[in-house]
Amino acid sequence: MRAGCSVPGRSRFCFPTERFEVDFGIDEATRELLAGAREIGRKEVRPAGLEADRNGAPLPPDHGYFTRFIARGEGRTRWLGPRGRRRDPGPRRTTVQSLLLAEEGAYWDRGIGVANPGVGLPEGNVLGLGTEAQKEQFLGSFLELDRPRWACFAMTEPGAGSDAAAISTQARKDGDGWILNGAKCFIGNASRADWILVQATLDPTKGRAAQRAFFVERSTPGLGGFKIEKKMGLKAYESTSFLLDDCRVPASHLLGGEKRHEGKAGFKTAMRTFNAGRPVIAANAVGIGRAALDEALAFARAHERTGDARVRDRIEAMARKLRMARLMCLRAGWLADREQANLVEASMSKALAAQVGQEATTLGMELIGTVGARGDHLIEKLYRDVKAMDIVEGTGQVQRMIISRNLVQLPR
Ligand SMILES: Cc1cc2nc3c(=O)[nH]c(=O)nc-3n(C[C@H](O)[C@H](O)[C@H](O)COP(=O)(O)OP(=O)(O)OC[C@H]3O[C@@H](n4cnc5c(N)ncnc54)[C@H](O)[C@@H]3O)c2cc1C
Repeated sequence: MRAGCSVPGRSRFCFPTERFEVDFGIDEATRELLAGAREIGRKEVRPAGLEADRNGAPLPPDHGYFTRFIARGEGRTRWLGPRGRRRDPGPRRTTVQSLLLAEEGAYWDRGIGVANPGVGLPEGNVLGLGTEAQKEQFLGSFLELDRPRWACFAMTEPGAGSDAAAISTQARKDGDGWILNGAKCFIGNASRADWILVQATLDPTKGRAAQRAFFVERSTPGLGGFKIEKKMGLKAYESTSFLLDDCRVPASHLLGGEKRHEGKAGFKTAMRTFNAGRPVIAANAVGIGRAALDEALAFARAHERTGDARVRDRIEAMARKLRMARLMCLRAGWLADREQANLVEASMSKALAAQVGQEATTLGMELIGTVGARGDHLIEKLYRDVKAMDIVEGTGQVQRMIISRNLVQLPR
């Protein structure tokens, strides 16, 4: 990755011309991808999300929505299989395409996007740091899904969220294996996952350098105490707390093996996962906000309120700010596609879009008035769903800290 501007005395926000050649033209292939996502979103995703919200509970693993999802060939790993032998890897999506799809998916239901079967968050960690044997063991069953399967990544603990370096789940060497002890919370899909990639520390006093990630399979003795957390929104997927009580895993379950852990590799890989995810969360926030905009517009038309300047003001603010946030996301993705440094843009997109998404749903709530207060209008659901976009993968404050430290060139 190319570094940002290095002119002495200037912030990294100066304007080297080659970094401003932006083309967000959407080609035919992307248009088709989006049309497909829109069709599935309308027919499958929105109804499933509304069902979970009405029931106040995640969709059960044997729900027909998941069966149809895997029957369409979705949820498969990006890994190409042993010695790259996968026969139909399909075209590789650009980051910009993935962000447009992330926006479209969240437009229909962001909770369902996380509930979908697949490796999910830890896939990047395993592809980046895992040995070939680990990829085969843990991604093999995701090459073709014979049933809905999930995996998940567990970093957050009751006492360590934003400060991921402060986790205290401990890993102790024991003969030819490892013993894990600790507690994790708010982990997406944990109690239905085949395996959990657990971030732990060999020594909590040694900070980031002592962190490692371990594959913990669902049936491992000592893994238990699963409790689905109560959430204000995003009801379609489970966020789960669990305990590791003298949980023994074999040496081969240390992600990457011991040799690959020089130079904080364990912590850096975990952080890379979060960095890559930031524009995705930003795109999700834009999608939720866009759904609120469309619903607000439909409400204004149905109630003949479009002639009211206060209504038009709200619609205008929603549309203008959502456009701005989308462009910020796409720029972060565009830089990633060109292998250019995008840390600041990724954090800016997340900080901005999460705020804009919240603002759009708030304006939508204002516009529908008492109808929103009744709790059965889609805008009210979107208002509850969008809040998490400001929390997951680094809160708004954390993003602003990353941006400001980078602009004045302090280490993160
Ligand atoms: C819906 C949902 C899904 C999640 N899914 C997962 C998952 O799958 N896996 C996983 O590992 N985690 C997951 N999380 C956890 C998430 O990553 C954490 O909630 C997040 O990192 C914030 O941590 P915290 O909640 O402990 O808040 P804290 O870190 O305690 O922060 C509380 C407040 O203080 C602010 N703050 C903290 N530090 C600073 C600072 N230095 N300067 C200024 N302000 C600061 C924060 O911005 C925040 O407003 C999920 C959370 C939610 C809500």
